[in-house]
Amino acid sequence: AVRNPDQPEFLQAVKEVLTSIWPFVAAHPEYLDAGILERLVEPERLIQFRVSWVDDLGKVQVNRAFRIQHNSAIGPFKGGMRFHPSVNQSVLKFLAFEQTFKNALTTLPMGGGKGGSDFDPKGKSDGEVMRFCQALMFELHRHLGADTDVPAGDIGVGAREVGYMTGMMKKLTNSAECVFTGKGLSFGGSLIRPEATGYGLLYFVEAMLKAKGETLEGKIVTVSGSGNVAQYAIEKAMEMGGKVITASDSSGVVFDSEGFTPEKLAKLMEVKNDRRGRVADYAYEMGLEYVTGGTPWQFAAEVALPCATQNELDAEHAKMLITNGVQIVAEGANMPSTADAIALMHEAKVLFAPGKAANAGGVATSGLEMSQNSLRLSWSREEVDMRLREIMYSIHATCEQYGREDTHINYELGANVAGFVKVAEAMKAQGVY
Ligand code: NDP
Repeated sequence: AVRNPDQPEFLQAVKEVLTSIWPFVAAHPEYLDAGILERLVEPERLIQFRVSWVDDLGKVQVNRAFRIQHNSAIGPFKGGMRFHPSVNQSVLKFLAFEQTFKNALTTLPMGGGKGGSDFDPKGKSDGEVMRFCQALMFELHRHLGADTDVPAGDIGVGAREVGYMTGMMKKLTNSAECVFTGKGLSFGGSLIRPEATGYGLLYFVEAMLKAKGETLEGKIVTVSGSGNVAQYAIEKAMEMGGKVITASDSSGVVFDSEGFTPEKLAKLMEVKNDRRGRVADYAYEMGLEYVTGGTPWQFAAEVALPCATQNELDAEHAKMLITNGVQIVAEGANMPSTADAIALMHEAKVLFAPGKAANAGGVATSGLEMSQNSLRLSWSREEVDMRLREIMYSIHATCEQYGREDTHINYELGANVAGFVKVAEAMKAQGVY
């Protein structure tokens, strides 16, 4: 806190992890002797730079961009790029810190990183987005490499933005090596990567329910967000027989007591992806109930899946969920639940799966994209999907191994300790540097 006084999100993420792993670390002083904790909370490298570009009116615009190269003990830095006005050092450092543990849990050789800019893609033309992405790469390219740092998408960065950045990377480096994942299929992308975070989240939920001898069939599910993660979470939840009754954005929530159908989801995707519209437009066009400023957590559900952004589920929301009988909260987004909300869920014995375990399917499939690029091969949909499901089940098993408490599994403890052990062992073995 002394070193990072104005970084609340970063401090929140660090406190959450250190509090949960402390009893384990105290029982294993070799990690303290090696200075692992002190080293883990300091990024290996933090790059900040100016991005100047020209908008459609010919006016010069200036944004701030970052890349946090947090930890490379296990492999090259790996983590998405986020374009959103709220992006700052604190947000990206928390994401890079979380990413380090998440990537360790996937069992694939990837270190942790994150990056982004305060650029807001909303309301920008394709040309403006392209020029911004290209201007950002003029600087970022020198810090990336297939064995150094491999970014991907995140909020505000989808296939379009990854495409523009990949194109400029090739132009500047004269090399087609894999420095981005989440690429389009025509230039080295992997099948299932767009779906991976949402699908993976549901595979994880499936494993959680299986451990209790249950399935998703007939269960009521609430989802927040309406972007990449939310859309494919809704799709897989429906496939598994769940009834998804909400989607949202930062303006409000749509409530659908009948539940999503494939046709309704196709409409939501058309509004959000093709027209870059709002959830309110979808609700209006479908004649569904829309609550301005509302959240999905006000509706009763057995399974709640926050898939929007950090700190979107606070103590008040947790109370509503618990009162309404929620059984499982699994995070598709990164750190969507506040510390108070998590404490209440633990107290009420709600099964809580933190993002670093439950949403690891995205980066895991990015790892599979890197493997396919290195092999100069492209695996089938079925093969990637099967590997994704296996990885999510193996993360579940790891959480169970480290987080079993009497009658139930403490997924937060399991994910934090398992991720920590993997990274700490790799750091210890490579000496102090
Ligand atoms: P998108 O940009 O595709 O979608 C983000 C969604 O969240 C939008 O619907 C957005 O609505 C909504 N949102 C943003 N802020 C708020 C808010 N304050 N309240 C309610 N809704 C909000 O991003 P992704 O789907 O890719 O990412 C969502 C989350 O998942 C992030 O936390 C990300 O870090 C995490 N994640 C993503 C992965 C991936 O593979 N894409 C992998 C692992 C984690 P609006 O249009 O109003 O801003």
